[in-house]
Amino acid sequence: TRQTVRVDLGARAYDIVIGPGALQETGERVVALASGARCAIVTDENVAPLHLGPLADALSAAGIASTPIVLPPGEATKGFDHLQQTVEALLEARLERGDLVVALGGGVIGDLAGFAAAVTRRGMDFVQVPTSLLAQVDSSVGGKTGINAPQGKNLVGAFHQPRLVIADTGVLDTLPAREFRAGYAEIAKYGLIGDAPFFAWLEENLDAIMDGGPARTDAIARSCRAKADIVARDEREAGERALLNLGHTFGHALEAITGYRSDILVHGEGVAIGMVLAHAFSARMNLASPDDARRVAAHLERAGLPTDLSAIRSHIADADTLMDFIAQDKKVSRGALTFILTRGIGEAFIARDVPPSEVRAFLKDTL
Ligand code: NAD
Ligand code: ZN
Repeated sequence: TRQTVRVDLGARAYDIVIGPGALQETGERVVALASGARCAIVTDENVAPLHLGPLADALSAAGIASTPIVLPPGEATKGFDHLQQTVEALLEARLERGDLVVALGGGVIGDLAGFAAAVTRRGMDFVQVPTSLLAQVDSSVGGKTGINAPQGKNLVGAFHQPRLVIADTGVLDTLPAREFRAGYAEIAKYGLIGDAPFFAWLEENLDAIMDGGPARTDAIARSCRAKADIVARDEREAGERALLNLGHTFGHALEAITGYRSDILVHGEGVAIGMVLAHAFSARMNLASPDDARRVAAHLERAGLPTDLSAIRSHIADADTLMDFIAQDKKVSRGALTFILTRGIGEAFIARDVPPSEVRAFLKDTL
């Protein structure tokens, strides 16, 4: 029931350890890294009462003392204020360069703590212990760390790879169901990007994945494998890594237009709608069959995800407004739009010169 995926980055290669109870192994695995004898555990107020004690115990059993740094939950924490608070807490705890920063939480904590580790003492070692499904299959792997700026999301950051990722699938039992479904959108994404057999496997095993057990561990491990392979080939997103943005140009625009309000739309829900739109737009451009878009929508709907704009329609004034939000997304360069489009399930590709007029017309018809 324990799976290990290696992210092959030469001298900076690291393992992702996946399975129920993996948290218990954190101490021995950290000792094997021959890092410092002390660490700070950065986490949030939702996760701390549930999982901080067991992690601190596992570390202490291996002789590693830890200092907790507990931050408020939510995207608003991923900013300059809490970065400063975290860095100062690391210095206050007198952690040295070889000591560890451990991120225990969802993507917000992983991104913030990873960035704090990257900039404190010019780079401390860090370990990811992701506790949300999204963090286990996506944000904890690949070394993108950072915070949001008033000017936009994820605009301040660094590439800083973890030394180790511990994805204990048991901790997902306490994750709110809606957050679990949102993370599932990113799992489906890996099938849609480049692995049609994986998508077919997901269609077959969805109920077992939702129930937990071995199918869930398998789905997480296959997702990590997919991301690890892409990151190993293109660590700094010079090319191929951009495929991971399938559904994200539309998705980010939908998150922005609904004011990043998690009561309306969480990231994975925006991505789910975005992936359906990317498939529908690809069909409209005669790149893919409309049957594929229907198949994607049917599967995501079965996973309890939104697949069209109906629930958020009242937040979208018109197609032009939505288009403005899309153009503000960072994937715009010199008037042309870069989109991840597809030739079919498992055949996504980077389209660098999508005419904005085509997108606008598509949105007009879709709204
Ligand atoms: P999150 O960190 O806000 O976690 C979602 C919610 O679940 C929070 O309220 C959190 O407290 C709670 N939670 C987490 N684990 C729990 C558990 N086991 N039990 C109970 N509650 C738990 O959000 P997220 O969806 O995990 O991550 C989103 C963030 O990830 C965004 O900031 C996004 O930009 C970032 N991200 C980064 C990358 C990357 O490559 N670095 C990739 C994708 C997303
Ligand atoms: Zn995403």
